[in-house]
Amino acid sequence: MIKALRLDSRLEPVPKTSPAAKNRFIYAHKKLHMLPTSLAGALTHPLLAAKLPRAGLDLIKGGSGQEDESIESFVNRRFGKGFSDDLISAMVHGIYAGDLSKLSVRSTFGILYHLEKDYGSVILGMLMGGGAVETPWDRTLKENIMAKMPELKTFVDKTSIYSFTDGLEDLSKALEQDLVESGRVNIRKESWVEKLISIKDHDPIQANTVIAALPPSKLSHLLPVAPPELIYNPSVTVAVVNLVYNADQARLASPGFGYLIPRSENSAVRHRGLLGVVFDSCAIPTQDKGPSRDHTLKLTAMIGGHMFEDVAAHHEYKSSPSQSSPSQSITQHDSKAREKELTSFFKEVATDAVKRHLQIDASPEIVKVHIQHDCIPQYLVGHLQRMQTLDRSLRKEYDGLLAVTGAGYLGVSINDCIKNAREVAESVMSKLEEEDDGEAALVGRQDAVTGLERAWFL
Ligand SMILES: Cc1cc2nc3c(=O)[nH]c(=O)nc-3n(C[C@H](O)[C@H](O)[C@H](O)COP(=O)(O)OP(=O)(O)OC[C@H]3O[C@@H](n4cnc5c(N)ncnc54)[C@H](O)[C@@H]3O)c2cc1C
Repeated sequence: MIKALRLDSRLEPVPKTSPAAKNRFIYAHKKLHMLPTSLAGALTHPLLAAKLPRAGLDLIKGGSGQEDESIESFVNRRFGKGFSDDLISAMVHGIYAGDLSKLSVRSTFGILYHLEKDYGSVILGMLMGGGAVETPWDRTLKENIMAKMPELKTFVDKTSIYSFTDGLEDLSKALEQDLVESGRVNIRKESWVEKLISIKDHDPIQANTVIAALPPSKLSHLLPVAPPELIYNPSVTVAVVNLVYNADQARLASPGFGYLIPRSENSAVRHRGLLGVVFDSCAIPTQDKGPSRDHTLKLTAMIGGHMFEDVAAHHEYKSSPSQSSPSQSITQHDSKAREKELTSFFKEVATDAVKRHLQIDASPEIVKVHIQHDCIPQYLVGHLQRMQTLDRSLRKEYDGLLAVTGAGYLGVSINDCIKNAREVAESVMSKLEEEDDGEAALVGRQDAVTGLERAWFL
C-alpha cells in the first residue's frame, strides 16, 4: 500500500541496529530493566532468573485441552505466577492496555495456545521451530506479496518499526487523496451512519454490499437484527499524554523505545494507572526535521486502559472527599467538567512519572492530553469462538450483504486492521466481478463474504 500510494519517500524506518530496536524496558521494583533479546539473556535476567526453575515445568506438563482461557490462567499454569505479574502483564499493558486475567490467550497470544496444543510445551515447541508468529494463512499472504515485491524482504529484514514524515496520518491522508483522485470513491467524512442503510442528512444510499468498519458495538445499534457477539467485548479508555522537553535540560539516561509498567508495580492507586512511556524522539529519531531536532526530547505516556475508571474515580473521590463513594462522585459530575479535570490530573500523573522513573526534573515545554474513549477492544475469553458464531449469523441473517472489519474482530494492531480490511475488500470485489460475469447464482450463504473467514483458521 505504501508503494502504491507513492509514500516511499516519506517512510521513516528505524533499523534493527538502532537503540530503539534493541533497548526496550520494563519498570519494576523501582528501576528500569532492559528486556532480554535472547534466550541466554532471559536465563540470566534479574527479573526472570529466580522464576526459571518453576518455568521449566512447562517441558513436562501436558496441555489442558481447553479451547480457551485467560492469558493469566495459561501463563500461571505453564510457567508459574511470577511471569504474569512482571513480564506478561507489562506486555499486555503495552498492546491491549488490558487486564491479563480477562483477555483470551487464544485471541491475543495465539502462538502460545498453538505451541501447547501442537507440542505439549511452549518451550519445546519453540526449540523445535514451532515459534513462527504467523499462521499458515498469513504465511501464504506474505509469500504472495513478497513474490511480487522482492525488495520488501530486504526492508522487512532490516527494519524494526517505521513511521512517516508527519506520523501515521500521512498514510490515511495519502489513501484518501488517492481514492478521491480515482474518481470512483465518494467519501462523506461528516456523515454519521444512523441506520443501515440510511445516512443522516443524506438520501439513503443503495448498495449491493456493505463493509462495516465501525467498532462492533456501534454497528450493533444500526442493525435491524444485531447478533449478540457484537456487544460482548468491552473497550478500554486510554489517556495519551504527549510531553515535549528542551533536550538541553532533559536527557534520557538509557536511550531506547520506552518502558512498560507491569501489574506487580501498578496498583492503580500507587502508579495511578500508568501503562507505559514511549521515548518518541529516540524511537523515531529522523521524524523531526528542522532546528528543533536534537534539541527536543519527546515522550508519550499512556494511562488508564483497564484501570481507567478506577483511577478516575479514585482521583475524583480524593478531590471531593465529601462524596460518600467514588462511583457516586462520577455520576454527579458534568461530563465536560470531568474531562477537563481529568485532563489536568493526567498531565500531573505523566510529568510526575517521568520525574520519578527517568529522573527528568525539568518541566515540559509542551504537554498535550487526549483522552481516547473506548479505543481498544478487549478480546475476552472465548472471543474466537464468538467470531465464528458471528461469521455464521452474518451469513444467515444478511446473506452476504454485510461484511465487517476493524479492530473489534480479528486483531487490534494497525497492520492487522489493514491486512483484514484488504482481504475483505478483495473478496467482496471478486464476488461482485463474478456477479457481473453472470455468475450471481454462486453468491449465497455459504460463499458469502463476512470478513470473519479467518476466525476458523486461527
Ligand atoms: C493509544 C493507542 C496506541 C496505539 N498504538 C498502536 C501501535 O503502536 N501500533 C499498532 O499497530 N496499533 C496501535 N494501536 C491500535 C490501533 O491504532 C487501533 O486498533 C486501530 O487504529 C483501530 O482502527 P479501526 O479503523 O478499527 O477503528 P477506529 O480508528 O476507531 O475507526 C472507527 C471509526 O468509526 C467511526 N464511527 C463510529 N460510529 C460511526 C457511525 N455511526 N457513522 C460513521 N462513522 C462512525 C469513528 O468515528 C471512527 O473514526 C493503538 C491504539 C491506541 C488507542
